[in-house]
Amino acid sequence: MAAETLVKAGVQVDVYDAMPSVGRKFLLAGRGGLNLTHSEPAAAFRSRFGARASQVSPWLEQFDVQALRQWAHDLGTETFVGSSGRVFPKEMKAAPLLRAWLQRLRASGVKVHARHVWRGWTDDGALLLDTPQGTTVRRADAVVLALGGGSWSRLGSDGAWQSLLEDKGVVVAPLQPANCGFLADWSPYFSERFAGQPLKSVAIAPQGDFGMRRGECMVTSDGLEGGLLYAWSASLRDAVLTKGQALLHVDLLPARDYAHVLEQVTWPRGSRSWSSHLGSRLGLHGVKVGLLRECLAKEAFEHPETLAAAIKCLPVRLYGMRPLDEAISTAGGVRFESVNQDSMLLSLPGVFCAGEMLDWEAPTGGYLLTACFASGHVAGQGVLRWLGLSAG
Ligand SMILES: Cc1cc2nc3c(=O)[nH]c(=O)nc-3n(C[C@H](O)[C@H](O)[C@H](O)COP(=O)(O)OP(=O)(O)OC[C@H]3O[C@@H](n4cnc5c(N)ncnc54)[C@H](O)[C@@H]3O)c2cc1C
Repeated sequence: MAAETLVKAGVQVDVYDAMPSVGRKFLLAGRGGLNLTHSEPAAAFRSRFGARASQVSPWLEQFDVQALRQWAHDLGTETFVGSSGRVFPKEMKAAPLLRAWLQRLRASGVKVHARHVWRGWTDDGALLLDTPQGTTVRRADAVVLALGGGSWSRLGSDGAWQSLLEDKGVVVAPLQPANCGFLADWSPYFSERFAGQPLKSVAIAPQGDFGMRRGECMVTSDGLEGGLLYAWSASLRDAVLTKGQALLHVDLLPARDYAHVLEQVTWPRGSRSWSSHLGSRLGLHGVKVGLLRECLAKEAFEHPETLAAAIKCLPVRLYGMRPLDEAISTAGGVRFESVNQDSMLLSLPGVFCAGEMLDWEAPTGGYLLTACFASGHVAGQGVLRWLGLSAG
């Protein structure tokens, strides 16, 4: 997006990418339907960036959801708003959009150099690049680094830029998994029996947060995974990192209130097992009952109030995150105090940053790509200002 902003203004642009082709993570995002952005009101959209909302909002003011949808439209990709408010290309694919975009960029003069791994700078400030033909040196009037976070390193974003920038005085917050799976201490029985099963129609929130969110997540062999969990991944991760664990509260029956659940669990059970009693009175079956048994002491089943409270608010202890490489996105990165409002590095004038390598995060929902595109646009505008040019 920075390249596009620059070439439109008549600047000669060269794009270097470590991989044999560009946009591999974008293509991967396309496998899940390519959630490009979200249609919710701007204030709600901005709030998704949490503690970094005030840094990301100016990007979105320059390149907003409508601008992104128009950009896709101009490239021949119509978008639609799904029932959740998320915005997708009608084809639910990234490849046609990326293809059309690269064609347009190349036609307007952008040169794309694949298999060029940036390794830092020479003593006199030129870019050092490893290529299949050996190391080469390139000079530029300005540089935009858009090197991604640290997840899915096989697609190119390996986070190796951290030390190169830290050596130049740039402050980088440690890269952490965002929108990631979490680890729980499941018993072998629970793990073997229920791994791979979805917990459907539940609501969850970290301990201390009363804004339970409804949805679905997946039991894995060593924890929990999935969209509903991702929505809380920042606060769960911060609890794990600061306290060594996070307590997740799970409402197994969000459509029923506590009084109803209590009434049903108090109903005489006769000779029926707890599983069949909870199944017939409350429709609780399979993995939900399994989770209840896994996280609740056996004796608690004999106390209706405790059991009903657990069904409505079951504490599940999480003690870690799945590795960064598996995460959908990355938290941490170049701290905002190291860049100016154009995303230019204060310690490296003429070098700009864009995308996930900056220190912000957001849940899934199209917020990640939108902010990446917007920050690329902002970096491009910043370069134009740096070069003393105006946008074309
Ligand atoms: C499975 C999955 C699904 C996703 N789905 C969605 C979705 O539906 N909606 C959404 O909004 N977001 C989604 N995302 C997140 C989104 O894809 C990323 O936030 C976005 O791609 C980040 O863009 P970026 O340009 O900052 O980094 P990247 O897309 O990671 O690109 C960084 C580029 O820099 C190159 N590079 C890195 N280091 C070097 C170097 N030293 N030299 C040269 N080149 C280098 C890499 O090869 C790569 O091409 C998804 C992510 C994953 C993993």
